[in-house]
Amino acid sequence: MTVIGYGARAADQQLQPVSFEREPLRAGEVEIDIAFCGVCHSDIHQCANDWENTVWPCVPGHEIVGTVSKIGNGVTKFAIGDTVGVGCMVNSCRVCEACAAGDEQYCTGPKSATFTYNGPKLPDGSNSYGGYSDSITVREEFVLAIPVAIDPAQAAPILCAGVTTYQPMKHFGLKKGQTLGVAGIGGLGHMAVQIGKALGATVVAFTTSAEKIAAIKALGAHDVVVMDDETAVQAAALSLDMMIDTIP
Ligand SMILES: [Zn+2]
Ligand SMILES: [Zn+2]
Repeated sequence: MTVIGYGARAADQQLQPVSFEREPLRAGEVEIDIAFCGVCHSDIHQCANDWENTVWPCVPGHEIVGTVSKIGNGVTKFAIGDTVGVGCMVNSCRVCEACAAGDEQYCTGPKSATFTYNGPKLPDGSNSYGGYSDSITVREEFVLAIPVAIDPAQAAPILCAGVTTYQPMKHFGLKKGQTLGVAGIGGLGHMAVQIGKALGATVVAFTTSAEKIAAIKALGAHDVVVMDDETAVQAAALSLDMMIDTIP
C-alpha cells in the first residue's frame, strides 16, 4: 500500500511530503488510519541525525492515534473502527526473557525491538516509518485501546511524553496527597503536571519561564516556582516527596 507522509531526506532538510510503501498486512497485525500524531523532540533529533544513525527518508512520529481500518488473521484484541494508539515500538521478538517479562524495550532477540520509525523492522531489517503519515500497520501487542471518553487529539501525547512521566510516578509509588515537583515544563513536563494532579498529588512546577505561570496553573499545578526567584526556591527546599526532572 502506498502511503503519504511527511519525512526528511537529509539532516539539513525540512520535512516534506514523501510517499512510501507499507508492506501488506500480516497475521497478528492491525492497520490503523492515523488521525493525530504528537510531535516529540525525539522526532526532531532523528530528522537532524543527532544520534548519527538515521536511515533516510526519515518519517518520524511515535505518538499516534487513529482508527483500526483492517485486522490481520488471528487478531483478537481489536476490531475495525476501534480508536487506538501506538507509541515508540511496533514489534519485538516476543519470545526472549525480556519480552516474556513485558520489558520489550530490552528485547535481546536476534533482531531486537522494532521502533516505530528508523527501523530496522522484523523480519527483513527494512526501515520503519512513523506516524507523520496516513496509516501504519502494527503487531496487536503494541497497539493500545484509547477510551472513547478521551479526545483523540489530546490522547496522542500520552503515548510518549505521557508514559515517560507516568511510569516513574507508578514505579516509585507516588501516593495521593503527596507533593510532586516537576522540573521543566515543556513536552514532558506539561504531561507530568496533569498526570500528577490526576493521581491526587499536590504538584509544584519548577520553571525558568515566568511567562508560563498562568498556563502551568491552568494545567493543574498547585504552585509554580520560577528558578531565578531565590527566595521561592529556598522556600521550596525539602517540600517534595518526589520530583520528576524533565531537563536534559
Ligand atoms: Zn517521544
Ligand atoms: Zn525479545
